[in-house]
Amino acid sequence: MFQTGLAGQILFLLVIGFSLLIVVINQCFNRQQGPLFWSGPLFFSPLLVFAFLYLFPPGKTAETLFIAAETLLILGMAVLLIVPVNKLPARAFMLGAYAMPPVLIGLSFLPVGLRLLPQLNRVLLYANIALLILALLQSRRRLNQTSAYTLGLLFLLAAQPLALQADSALNRAAYVALHGLALGSIFLYFYQSIQNHLRQNIDDANRRLLEWEKTVKFEVLKRTIDFEHTHQRLLDISKTDGLTNCLNKNAIMEEIDKLVQGKQNFTILMADIDKFKEINDTQGHLVGDQILAQVSAVVQRSIRGVDCLGRYGGDEFIVTLPRTAIRDAFYVGERIKKNIAEQNELDVTLSIGAASYPQDGDAAVKLIEFADKGLYLSKQHGRNTISYAGELQ
Ligand code: GH3
Ligand code: MG
Repeated sequence: MFQTGLAGQILFLLVIGFSLLIVVINQCFNRQQGPLFWSGPLFFSPLLVFAFLYLFPPGKTAETLFIAAETLLILGMAVLLIVPVNKLPARAFMLGAYAMPPVLIGLSFLPVGLRLLPQLNRVLLYANIALLILALLQSRRRLNQTSAYTLGLLFLLAAQPLALQADSALNRAAYVALHGLALGSIFLYFYQSIQNHLRQNIDDANRRLLEWEKTVKFEVLKRTIDFEHTHQRLLDISKTDGLTNCLNKNAIMEEIDKLVQGKQNFTILMADIDKFKEINDTQGHLVGDQILAQVSAVVQRSIRGVDCLGRYGGDEFIVTLPRTAIRDAFYVGERIKKNIAEQNELDVTLSIGAASYPQDGDAAVKLIEFADKGLYLSKQHGRNTISYAGELQ
């Protein structure tokens, strides 16, 4: 039955083909430490024994040798299902799985080996049946009952009794077909499990990648925000006058340029502290500095949010008043003077000159020049006043 005829040939091919596939995919792809991983090497037994039988047909012992190889395989599968994997002596098990087939082949050469026990076939087949029943009972606990592995064990069990009456051609065909189904099912189980495992690994890797991407994006965002804050702070510093905290000369000029570009009517006030040199001379430069800062603070509080205050130089300040006509700008100037006067600890006055866009100039420099003329008039008129060098309409 096992060497001759079509059934024998098909059985050889089936066993060698599927066993080879299972051993190879298990070795290459399976990294799980479950019963599945351990089952892989077991298929080395039918693979090797069948390859041996195919190449060096040893006559009558062939059948015994095949059944014995299958017993080894079934024994291994039963052990794996009965004993929890973590309790198995791993090395011993693997060694057994790989060493037993050659031992079996070796035994078949001994005169006292398999040759002397013609009734061994029957004993081995009964052992197979018992082990398979045991394995099937365990597989209910350990595996999904409908898994392809369980199905494979069932087909293998169904095939065993047929070997007892191997004379009938129908039995032979059924034996081979059931082996094909059994090995095919077990291979399917390996294939599906490894596929699931790989898919899970890919999902895990994708999830980790996504988390990593999120972290990186968050980090980049955080740094960008930090960078923008720093950039903004540096920009503010570069526009600020260190002593008075209002805009510096460049920044207030830029502000006037911006207003000119906006082409909307606006007015600038140029204010200069009266007799500031005297203060410096009598009270010292440090007091002078404090006064500059105080004047800046009072002016800042006297204007709107849209208005800007800048230190043009020395004791000169410029205020920009968007959408403000010259008359309204005078009110603002008066308010500033009043607030300075009400500041008891601040014993200074301001002279102010005004210039309006567009009538007094169409560029920052021209407007400043015109406001300076007004300022000069104020100084001439006895200081502490607001003047305009143009004609009031
Ligand atoms: P006027 O009423 O004509 O304006 O008289 P003034 O004494 O105020 O004359 P002017 O505006 O020309 O003098 C400005 C002085 O401001 C000259 C300079 O010593 C002083 N000054 C300029 N920058 C600073 C500064 O940062 N701190 C101090 N303490 N004094 C400054
Ligand atoms: Mg002055």
